Amino acid sequence: MSELKSATASCLCGSVKITANEINPKFSVCHCQTCRTWGGAPYFAVQCGENVEIEGADNIKKYESSAWASRGFCSQCGTHLFYQLKQTGAYNMPVGLFKELRGLSMNMQYFSDKRPDYYCFTNETKEMTEAEIMAYFASQV
Ligand SMILES: [Zn+2]
Ligand SMILES: [Zn+2]
Repeated sequence: MSELKSATASCLCGSVKITANEINPKFSVCHCQTCRTWGGAPYFAVQCGENVEIEGADNIKKYESSAWASRGFCSQCGTHLFYQLKQTGAYNMPVGLFKELRGLSMNMQYFSDKRPDYYCFTNETKEMTEAEIMAYFASQV
């Protein structure tokens, strides 16, 4: 069991400030097309749970990217702030937002079968394909 960490983050323009109190330092990477379209690259995300304080939330615009989650970004500067699951309200945030976060390790790669052939990581991680992810979600309902 890895220890949860607390860290603060801010968007580029400073309109939004975030304190995440329960960050799982084992982060994941998502190779799906939605994440790559959103950010121009795979999404490096840390699980932040629900214990998150947000200052300047009026500046956050949310986009419903699927039936189960939405993505938030700063409406002033465009910094991507989170992927949020509708059912639980839990946040996944870009790992790069947290400048002072230490002790991170890449633990999981989602949609590994959707990873394009122009990059690969040497990190040894768990992987899940689209079919495995769909089967997992189906078993949770
Ligand atoms: Zn901003
Ligand atoms: Zn994705």
